[in-house]
Amino acid sequence: MTSHVSTSGLPEQVDVSIVGAGLAGLVAARVLSRAGLSIAVVEASDDVGGRVRSDIVDGFILDRGFQVLLTAYPELHRHLDLRALDLRMFEPGALVWRDGEGHVVGDPLRRPKTVVDTATAPIGSVLDKARIALLRMKLVRRDPKMLLRGDDIPTATALRAFGFSSAIIERFFRPLVGGIQLDPNLGTSRRMFDVIFRTLATGDTGVPAQGMGEITRQLASNLPAGSVHLNCAVTKVEPGRITTSSGHTIASRAVVVATEGPVASSLLGLPQVTSRAAGCVYFSADTAPIAGSYIVLDGHGQGPVLNVAVMSNVADTYAPPRRHLVVAALPGVAEGDIEQLARTQLRSWWGPQVDGWKTLRSYRIPHGQPGQDPPFNPKKNVALGEGLFVCGDHRDTGSIQGAMFSGRRCAESVLEWTTLHL
Ligand SMILES: Cc1cc2nc3c(=O)[nH]c(=O)nc-3n(C[C@H](O)[C@H](O)[C@H](O)COP(=O)(O)OP(=O)(O)OC[C@H]3O[C@@H](n4cnc5c(N)ncnc54)[C@H](O)[C@@H]3O)c2cc1C
Repeated sequence: MTSHVSTSGLPEQVDVSIVGAGLAGLVAARVLSRAGLSIAVVEASDDVGGRVRSDIVDGFILDRGFQVLLTAYPELHRHLDLRALDLRMFEPGALVWRDGEGHVVGDPLRRPKTVVDTATAPIGSVLDKARIALLRMKLVRRDPKMLLRGDDIPTATALRAFGFSSAIIERFFRPLVGGIQLDPNLGTSRRMFDVIFRTLATGDTGVPAQGMGEITRQLASNLPAGSVHLNCAVTKVEPGRITTSSGHTIASRAVVVATEGPVASSLLGLPQVTSRAAGCVYFSADTAPIAGSYIVLDGHGQGPVLNVAVMSNVADTYAPPRRHLVVAALPGVAEGDIEQLARTQLRSWWGPQVDGWKTLRSYRIPHGQPGQDPPFNPKKNVALGEGLFVCGDHRDTGSIQGAMFSGRRCAESVLEWTTLHL
């Protein structure tokens, strides 16, 4: 048992109770405890992490849903020891799989040698590729805060207005951005698209050597001993106290609800939060179907698998020696036989070798990210009055950055409130 997890039961009273031990709750807890307040983090499930957890299955590391860490997220650098995470990086750019072949679409600034491959990749016209470079340049020059205030329309409409052809939207943007935003229809706010595309261009993309769950484990391990309480669902939130499903109440000056959006809405009576679903299937293979640490995109843009990665090529720690780990991500799809859907599609890419793959586990995540359709206004209010606070990706942006930023912003608001109400 790790020291931050309590073995002695729930406290009667603390300065601040925090409901939920995902990224937002853990960052809020970190900021508040470092400011000298006593905290209790009460988590419904059997471990910390929320949507950022990893499982070990047959010696493979499986993240609960294919996800990646973008090193350009500013909030990471405030709260995490990135060196200790031992990040393993993906190749910049992507491998677009189309008509039985992989085509490298590289970042010409970071991988100049990929310029010719990128120019000839059958993902769109030369003009389309020039427009990608132009868009990248435009976005990199702008402050992300300003991008989040730009005109708001669906991403697909914004891409067409920028002059991109249907081919490049289908073959490149849909699998890339639809995969990141769990939105194959590209209906999400163009504000989010601008920020994500800028973030991809200004940093690296990686995973911790021991899995994405290492991010939340590291945050939790720096909290005061015994401050995290697992397997305790909170059923009632009132000013000055929370009640768990076992009937225990914790009194506190402030209460922070850091659950996912739909639960926060029902605990606090806030407007409903919509959901973007995600499915993901992990296979073990004797031989890797591709070489290289690429995110592979479905160059036909039809899915349901839009992204694939050979995780063991990216991080050899993800698989036992001489074994390979393949992940197939189905953004927007959490129902049906996702294993069969993934096998059928990948067989059409890589042939009968796929029949020899063993399914390790499938994940179906009904609430992968909050919906962020236009008009999308991040930075929603976190202080609800009477000492009640709320944080999570649904208050800012649906991302690791958004959840962490929201946790800090909320904690700073709690600190202001507690100073005024001493
Ligand atoms: C498949 C997938 C892929 C993703 N890909 C990326 C990506 O590549 N890059 C990126 O930046 N972001 C990605 N995201 C989004 C990112 O993971 C989330 O935005 C972020 O983790 C949300 O953190 P959170 O703290 O707001 O919420 P959560 O992680 O959901 O934490 C909420 C916590 O509250 C707990 N809880 C719920 N109800 C109760 C209750 N009643 N009592 C006590 N506890 C409760 C939950 O168990 C959970 O631990 C992805 C998400 C998914 C699912």
